[in-house]
Amino acid sequence: MARAEEPAEITLIGGRPARYRVRRSDRARRLTLRVTHDEGLVVVLPRRWALAEVGRAFELHARWLDRTLDRYGVRLGPPRRGLATGSVVPIRGEPRRLVLSPLPEGSRRARWELRDDVLEASLPAAALLEPRPALERWLRGLARETIVARVGELWPRVGVAPRRVIVGERLTRWGSCSEQGSLSFSWRLILAPPAVLDAIVCHELCHLSHFDHGPGFRALLRRVCADYDAHSAWLRTHANELRF
Ligand SMILES: [Zn+2]
Repeated sequence: MARAEEPAEITLIGGRPARYRVRRSDRARRLTLRVTHDEGLVVVLPRRWALAEVGRAFELHARWLDRTLDRYGVRLGPPRRGLATGSVVPIRGEPRRLVLSPLPEGSRRARWELRDDVLEASLPAAALLEPRPALERWLRGLARETIVARVGELWPRVGVAPRRVIVGERLTRWGSCSEQGSLSFSWRLILAPPAVLDAIVCHELCHLSHFDHGPGFRALLRRVCADYDAHSAWLRTHANELRF
């Protein structure tokens, strides 16, 4: 069963802003306040209780919350985990262990190499401390290369080539198709298994012939990607794991 979770909210605790989430629970019999390193402050609320109970609980336990949020360092939510050697990054559906090393003296261009389950990166000293932007840039390039190549391979099955392929930062959708015939994809598809990436590419390619999700679209999609439903379900279930 999917957990019902409200978006993160902000409130004042001890006179300073604090971020929290409310999680509705069928099983909970009373309200629980929970502070952890991984999630920050989470309020577990019995399904039928009013949200107003949350504010009341904060007032009642303000001193404990104030102390505990500071002790865990999660007043503004859980920290984004830093990337370092040993961090795991999913690429093409497989976990890869990140190995970071400094670039040799005098060279400034980051070097990346993906070998089996290891992703090696030689980075300038400053990027070693915060490698996320450099990693995202590299993954975006890999995604662009991969998606453009897959579109090139797959469009003949559908019969219509897109005018343009854009690979960028899309947070809400994996892909989309414009009426002018350009296809856009999220670079994060490179984190998913290749068959899943192909399925999304096929879906958008089919929109070049059918702009809606009607029977014509579905029949074409089934013909070019017989397992589309399974791949799309995989993406819905595993989207949370496609990050680092
Ligand atoms: Zn669609």
